[in-house]
Amino acid sequence: MTKIAFVGLGNMGGPMAANLVKAGHAVTGFDLSPVSLEAASRNGVATADSLPEAIAGAECVITMLPKGEHVVSVWKDLSTLVSAGTLLIDSSTIDVDSARAAHEMAAINTCPSLDAPVSGGTGGAAAGTLTFMAGGSQEAFDRAKTILEAMGRKIVHCGGDGAGQAAKICNNMILGISMIGVCEAFALGEKLGLSHQALFDVASTSSGQCWSLTTYCPVPGPVPTSPANNDYKPGFTAALMLKDLTLAQQAAIATGASTPLGAEAAQVYGLFEKRGNGERDFSAIIEMLRTD
Ligand code: NAD
Repeated sequence: MTKIAFVGLGNMGGPMAANLVKAGHAVTGFDLSPVSLEAASRNGVATADSLPEAIAGAECVITMLPKGEHVVSVWKDLSTLVSAGTLLIDSSTIDVDSARAAHEMAAINTCPSLDAPVSGGTGGAAAGTLTFMAGGSQEAFDRAKTILEAMGRKIVHCGGDGAGQAAKICNNMILGISMIGVCEAFALGEKLGLSHQALFDVASTSSGQCWSLTTYCPVPGPVPTSPANNDYKPGFTAALMLKDLTLAQQAAIATGASTPLGAEAAQVYGLFEKRGNGERDFSAIIEMLRTD
C-alpha cells in the first residue's frame, strides 16, 4: 500500500484514482472543480481542499491535468512542498519541453520523476487497461511500476526525461493520420457502391488493417462498440486529437522532422473543430470528408 496524492480528477484522473483505491492504495485527491472532487469521493478517494493538504505525507504524487502550463505550474509548487525523495508522476499529455521542465523542478528536491502519458481513453481509464509510456530514470520507473499497474495493462519504459511524451505524440500522429485514411477509404467505397461490411471484411484482413479500422471503425455496423454506432459520442474527442496533432507539429518544427501527413491531419482536424465538432468523437471526421 502506497500513500498517493492524485491531482486532477477529471474524465481520466477520476477513474484512474478510483482504480488505485481498488488496488488498496491510500489515495487523497485534489481538483479545482468541486464536481470532480465529489465524483472521486463517491469512488473512495479521500478529498483535500488544497494542494498542500493533498500531498501531506504522500510517498507518490500523480498529476493528470489538461496542458503543459498546468503541469509546470503544479510541479513548481510541488518542488517546494513535497518531501525529498517523493516519487512524482505526470500522466497528462503535454509537450516534451514542458515535461522536461517538470523533471528539472522535481530534481530540485531530489524527487525521482516520470512523464507517463497514457493511451486507452476514458474506457481504458475506467477498466484499468491503459497503456503507460514512461520517460525518466530507471529508479523512478522501478518505483512507479506497481502503482501504474493498478491503472494500466501495459507499462513501457521509453527512455529518459520526456521520452514518454515523445512516444505519445508519435503514436497519436499515427492515429490521426490513419483515422483520416480509413474515413477516406469508406467515403470512396460509398461512392463506388461498396458496402461498409464488404470493405471492412476485406481491409480488416488485408494490408489496410489498422486500429482505426478494426477497433474503432468510423462507420456504424462492422464494429458494434465503436462511437459511430452511438452518434459519435466520445470516446476520444476531436478537440483532444487536434491537441495531440498540434503537439506533434510543434515538436516536428522544433526538431526539423518532416511530417507532411501529420501536418495535413492537424489542418483537417483544425477545420473540423472550427466547424463546431470539437466535442464529438474524432472518428466523426468522416462526415466532413464525405461532404467536402
Ligand atoms: P479533464 O479536463 O476532464 O480533467 C482535467 C482536470 O484537471 C479537471 O477536473 C480540472 O479541474 C483539473 N485541474 C486543472 N488545473 C488544475 C490544478 N491547477 N489543480 C488541480 N486540478 C486542476 O481532462 P481529461 O480528459 O481527464 O484529460 C487529462 C489529460 O489526459 C489531458 O492532458 C489529456 O490530453 C490526456 N488524455 C485524455 C484522454 C481522454 O480520452 N480524455 C486520453 C488520453 C490522454
